[in-house]
Amino acid sequence: MSAIYVFTQRRVKYHWLFGLLALAYALNHSDFAQASTINRVLLNFPLIMVLNLLAIKQLLAQAKGEFSGVYRALIFAFVVNIIQLGSRFTLLVLHQFDLFTPAKAALIHSLGYYGLTTFAFLTLGSCLYLVYKKTSIEMRDNMERDPLTGVFNRHNLQLKLQNELQRASRSKQHVSIVMIDVDHFKKVNDSLGHVAGDLALCHVVKLARDQLRPYDAIFRYGGEEFLICLPDTGSDAALTIANRIRKHIAQSKISALPELKLTISVGVATSSTEIADWQQLIQDADRALYQAKRQGRNQVSYYVDEAINVT
Ligand code: GH3
Ligand code: MG
Ligand code: MG
Repeated sequence: MSAIYVFTQRRVKYHWLFGLLALAYALNHSDFAQASTINRVLLNFPLIMVLNLLAIKQLLAQAKGEFSGVYRALIFAFVVNIIQLGSRFTLLVLHQFDLFTPAKAALIHSLGYYGLTTFAFLTLGSCLYLVYKKTSIEMRDNMERDPLTGVFNRHNLQLKLQNELQRASRSKQHVSIVMIDVDHFKKVNDSLGHVAGDLALCHVVKLARDQLRPYDAIFRYGGEEFLICLPDTGSDAALTIANRIRKHIAQSKISALPELKLTISVGVATSSTEIADWQQLIQDADRALYQAKRQGRNQVSYYVDEAINVT
């Protein structure tokens, strides 16, 4: 049970767990339980079934996302376990009240044997599935993500932008690209060292991410350059987001580097509602960024209809 809580990233409720264990311990030392093995089984089976039900409830609450297949496999294993425990419990009750011939007692044993073996195989299978899933997600992340900042690298940039642009043209929406370049970053490295530079890059990413929606995607485009893809976003909204990121970074402080003042320059470009070329869009954002640099840095420029404007 606690493993399920840890696995689903919920806090383990130890007081409940220990409460249940104490109850089980006390019940197992009662006169009724001490009288026969069957009595102990009759006492413990409902308790185990409750724990199984709690595990299922916990897994159902999380049965979305990348691990949903593993959750479903575990739920199936617990359901099988409840069925085998429930059937054996019923047979034992019938047996206890002489509603069941002793000759059929072997059935209870076989049911227990096969039921527990199936449960063990199903949980083992689910664990192997979990290991496989975790490894493949890790491998995918290693391939798609920048190890320093954790944002996407350029691996899927083309695919992502092309998909977004196609989707936008179908739904007559805009896609905006925000290109960020940290100002005078070489000086940060030269004066404070590369470790401080790395810290500053992570800081920029964190503040940028804070301003984004879950479906916006941020890519590390180059050394200190980041590209943000904003789906369903026109130029006004993109400029607002870009300026918010710029201001947050300019006003921020890194506690480990109190003397550092970071600023960024930003270029923004927005697609028309017709099918747009992803490379052209990046080029437009790049040109706007270049303009922001030329005009003095720490500002946002945007590219609209072949004209570059600075905000
Ligand atoms: P500008 O304002 O014109 O953008 O000037 P800049 O100094 O930011 O631009 P420049 O292209 O001259 O320097 C970028 C620097 O970023 C050079 C490179 O050493 C540094 N850099 C690139 N990747 C990393 C990294 O992963 N970590 C660190 N610490 N520095 C990096
Ligand atoms: Mg640069
Ligand atoms: Mg720079």
